Amino acid sequence: MSVMTTTLPIAAGLAVLLWGAACAAGWEAGPDAAQTDDVHAARRARMVETQIRARGVRDPRVLAAMAAVPRHQFVPDDRRDEAYGDFPLPIGFSQTISQPYIVAFMTEALGIGPGAKVLEIGTGSGYQAAVLGEIAAEVYTIEIVSPLAAQAAALLEELGYANVHVRDGDGYAGWPEHAPFDAVMVTAAPDHVPQPLVDQLAVGGRMVIPVGVVDQELRILTKLPDGQLREGERLPVRFVPLTRRPGE
Ligand code: SAH
Repeated sequence: MSVMTTTLPIAAGLAVLLWGAACAAGWEAGPDAAQTDDVHAARRARMVETQIRARGVRDPRVLAAMAAVPRHQFVPDDRRDEAYGDFPLPIGFSQTISQPYIVAFMTEALGIGPGAKVLEIGTGSGYQAAVLGEIAAEVYTIEIVSPLAAQAAALLEELGYANVHVRDGDGYAGWPEHAPFDAVMVTAAPDHVPQPLVDQLAVGGRMVIPVGVVDQELRILTKLPDGQLREGERLPVRFVPLTRRPGE
């Protein structure tokens, strides 16, 4: 009896305290988190207008994808306020997430629609893969830095991009098991166009790839029925180098 009278009030008191703490935390986290989301959404909308549409990107699917993907979630926590700026940002391991405009430009250059199967080399943060995932049916993306591959895969899963598949490996060899691809995007610069990626590109498909060591140029290539590549305009760009994993 004495046990009942002493422990019950203590347990009840503790429960009330815990409940109160949970409510306080809830009240604080709720509106703040919502406000932060609003701030990011407003910055993202402005980014699409001033950096992307204003510079000539017109494909409505690309504009919608850029407006949808929460870029701030793909940058390091202490860089979130800069996520919608007109520049690339470091993501660790000496790598970068590309400037929003270049992501939009390269995506538009692929000319893909809802049925497309796309290969990306250089997952990095996973941001470009998410943008592709908004438009295409399936995205296969390869990252050579294992911790980046793991981090991007976890984030893409958390955000619900079930159609984006991440592989930890050397993308030079492509992903033959899922070839042919309707489009190939390379986001690290090799010194030549890797032949396996040409082989895995479907006829009529486009490849967008920065090529060069010191002076890089972005090339937009279309695969012709005879297997040759037709080349469109070239643009000066600056990407991190494509590295190789020995033995792969
Ligand atoms: N698309 C990325 C940015 C890419 S930065 C994004 O949206 O964040 C280029 C990435 O290519 C880096 O993460 C780098 O580690 C990776 N990379 C370099 N060489 C590679 C290779 N051979 N295979 C796969 N990934 C490679």
